[in-house]
Amino acid sequence: MNLRVEVVSMGADGIEQRRQVLSLERQELAMETLGMSLVESKALLESVQDFMVAQQVAEDLERRRACSHCGRRHAMKDFGTTLVKTLFGPVNVPNPRWHRCPCQPEGPQTFRPTNTWLQGTTSAEMLYMETKWASLIPFAKVADLLKEVLPVGNSVHGETVRKHMQATAERMEQELGEERQMNQYEGSESGWEQQPLPDGPITVGIDGGYVRAAHKQGCFEVIAGKSVVAFRREDVDEAPSAKCFGFVQTYDEKPRRRLWELLKSQGMQENQQVVFMSDGGEDVRRVQQYLHPFSEHLLDWFHITMRLTVLQQQTKGLQQERPATGADVAKQLESIKHLLWHGNTPEALERLTSLSIDLSLFREHSAPAAKVANGVADFETYIRNNSEFIPNFGDRWRQGERISTAFVESTINQVVSRRFVKKQQMQWTLRGAHLLLQTRTRVLNNELEATFRQWYPRFRPKAA
Ligand SMILES: [Zn+2]
Repeated sequence: MNLRVEVVSMGADGIEQRRQVLSLERQELAMETLGMSLVESKALLESVQDFMVAQQVAEDLERRRACSHCGRRHAMKDFGTTLVKTLFGPVNVPNPRWHRCPCQPEGPQTFRPTNTWLQGTTSAEMLYMETKWASLIPFAKVADLLKEVLPVGNSVHGETVRKHMQATAERMEQELGEERQMNQYEGSESGWEQQPLPDGPITVGIDGGYVRAAHKQGCFEVIAGKSVVAFRREDVDEAPSAKCFGFVQTYDEKPRRRLWELLKSQGMQENQQVVFMSDGGEDVRRVQQYLHPFSEHLLDWFHITMRLTVLQQQTKGLQQERPATGADVAKQLESIKHLLWHGNTPEALERLTSLSIDLSLFREHSAPAAKVANGVADFETYIRNNSEFIPNFGDRWRQGERISTAFVESTINQVVSRRFVKKQQMQWTLRGAHLLLQTRTRVLNNELEATFRQWYPRFRPKAA
């Protein structure tokens, strides 16, 4: 059999235009000849796209050709075309320059009528697709995949994908407002009291991860986290909002604004409680000391227990060498954990200090004791540095409040590791990593489409 695919356009003037876009030939039916092949479908898409764009632009130019004031046709200054990349092939868009109508005394001598709609040289759908997938998988793979399944053209490669992704991220960055001042709140205290009862507390977990820097510059830290609203007061059916964020602290000029906008998008009010949790690292803490009249910062219980678990493990070595001492240290560590759980930090610190002194008696003669002594000293410093951020975890637990952001660990992995570090020999500049984090978190939060819709209002219209 022979199959001919023809496309027909019906213009506003009622005139039909036809073009044969594909002809197919089939002999005997086999599994692999059933329906269209990928190659044929690409050819079909490419031809239809080419025809459709030509018709659309021709109609638009014809409509604009007459002067909107006197109806005379604009005189042609020169012809021109602009190559626009689309998912269905690069298309040549006629892009002429016309003279200003003589009826108009003012304004530039000539103009391009396409300026009213033509933005850049990549279609919105293509830019979206490149940005979305480049946020999830390596740039070169995105190019390979697009080329394999769509007639995007041979000029698509890893480098162009990276550039397009970064252009999208830069645009998002430009739309972010100015950095917020420390402790800059909107409204006044009496105004906050009049706000409706806020939703459940927002917990923001923050953590850091490392990525490999370009040019053998070692590693640098990226901050990532997740913000979770405990519950919605109004709409019980609505799933509580959880959104992740990330940035490169040594590059980002607006970390406070960034987090602020994220929390605002989750419905944060000035009178809402915001709890920050982290492992207590200084750089992570810096991010959160500012934001909100009702924000507090807590050390994450999860990180405390992790460190204690490591200490207990080291104690096992000591226990083999000196059973009595080892058992005693293990017991003391257990009671320190108990004290910390109840927020009794001064007592916990006292015990740590005396444990350090005890261990220092053995450390000269015993390698395991020295190891535990060092670990205890580190832990003591850690607790001392963070003592003001240690709540009564037991109380919080009983009241059903969050004491840990173990969920942030997986967020860090989700936001940072796989794409940036693991198994990938990829090296990053501060800017490159920061920009990728912006599109990546937006993809993970399912917000990229909405962002594109702001820029291109008719992009993927939502069903009414
Ligand atoms: Zn005119």
